[in-house]
Amino acid sequence: MPNYDFDLLVIGAGSGGVRAARMAANKGVKVGIIEDRYWGGTCVNVGCVPKKLYSYASHFAEDFKDAAGYGWTLAEPEFDWVTLRDNQRQEILRLNGIYQRLLEGSGVERIDGRGKLVSAHEVQVGDKTYSAERLLIATGSWPYVPDFPGAEHCLTSNEVFNLPEFPKRFLVYGGGYIATEFASIFHGLGAETYQVYRGDKILRGFDEEVRGFVQDEMQQQGVNFYLGREILRIDKHLNALAVTLSDGRTLEVDAVLCATGRRGNVESLGLEQVGITPNSLGEISIDANFCTQVPSIYALGDVTGGPQLTPVALAEAMTLVHNLYSEEENRVMDYSNIATAVFCHPNIGTVGMSEEEAREQYRKIRVYTTSFKPMRNTLSGNPGKSLMKLVVDDASDRVLGCHVVGPDAGELVQGIAIALKAGLTKQDFDATVGIHPTSAEELVTLRSVTRN
Ligand code: NDP
Repeated sequence: MPNYDFDLLVIGAGSGGVRAARMAANKGVKVGIIEDRYWGGTCVNVGCVPKKLYSYASHFAEDFKDAAGYGWTLAEPEFDWVTLRDNQRQEILRLNGIYQRLLEGSGVERIDGRGKLVSAHEVQVGDKTYSAERLLIATGSWPYVPDFPGAEHCLTSNEVFNLPEFPKRFLVYGGGYIATEFASIFHGLGAETYQVYRGDKILRGFDEEVRGFVQDEMQQQGVNFYLGREILRIDKHLNALAVTLSDGRTLEVDAVLCATGRRGNVESLGLEQVGITPNSLGEISIDANFCTQVPSIYALGDVTGGPQLTPVALAEAMTLVHNLYSEEENRVMDYSNIATAVFCHPNIGTVGMSEEEAREQYRKIRVYTTSFKPMRNTLSGNPGKSLMKLVVDDASDRVLGCHVVGPDAGELVQGIAIALKAGLTKQDFDATVGIHPTSAEELVTLRSVTRN
């Protein structure tokens, strides 16, 4: 066997890459990991973690208002962007350090720089070339910005967390996870917020009822939606941006966040050099064992075009390392019933099928749905409502989907995801005694079928 520098050389120290490197090293494998930008990847640096911190910050606005009905008198709250931004930066630096120490503690060699594939077993970083028995591409994804005049004035999620100043008028372009979360976050922090989306309802792919409910709630809170429109051009006027929409209207704002999807991060990775051809979205195709067209090169996470979610990359990494370096039988990654949350306001937590998907796949379904004012909103006078919904296969009684819109929906749905994964039935839900008084108890007390 050739004398390689490493058994496994990982390109990209994001969620999937770091997990694969550490797990493999813990099994005694000689591992190197290459990263040129963010130790910890998108999630830790410019994704899930700072987003959640900003979402917490944003929720305070509502909390301060709600407090009055509960007897509190507060001075007029003021928000200071620089404090939030810099505290966030400190926290991310702390997490970067933890990631680096975790890798070192596992015996993984860290290599700073941009990795470029030069052969089926070699990666070049600067003027050095490293060899390995196996290479793992875990380079993640990168924001995609459509081409229109003035697109260069757009921010992406890479920049939005660290703006020098708070944009008082903020426009998000897109209707997916990032756009909807940031519309809520900046609106809560006090910006006049616009969300421009080409479709007629945000969050395509989610349950229709959930989409409509969330959009209505956000609109009621004061987010301005411009639906069925695209951005035609952006012109910079002194410090403001004039955004012209496809209906001819122009909106003047201080910042535009383009959140129109993420593509595989494969630029200058040297894929052509080794005979791997990504698709037009920059995604690398892999087999069930994460192997690319080249037998010694593996790939996982966002760059492979699966669900772009940190826990998916982590699970893929653990499956791959198990299959490569354990004596036990191979495992197959199970992509069914992956729960997810959107941290817009109100939050969405969802697992399993939407009502529409279930209708397509099952002969007869039962839908149980309820919307209500959470108890916390009674004394506060907050008009916000919550939605809870179960989609059930009529023949087997199995719960196929659970959708929650309301405070901490993700926290609630994580538990329900176990029930769906276990294949539990509506009868099992009904047999569960609720926790009173909570919103969550609605999920075990939904008795009347809303529609078949
Ligand atoms: P999404 O795929 O969620 O949404 C992209 C949005 O951009 C869609 O509304 C899409 O419209 C629109 N769009 C795409 N291309 C164009 C175009 N050329 N012109 C105008 N609009 C366009 O991507 P995001 O960027 O929001 O997020 C990327 C991924 O990151 C998510 O899919 C998710 O997997 C992950 N993520 C997860 C989070 C979480 O778990 N909470 C949070 C943030 C991100 P249309 O619907 O019509 O296609």
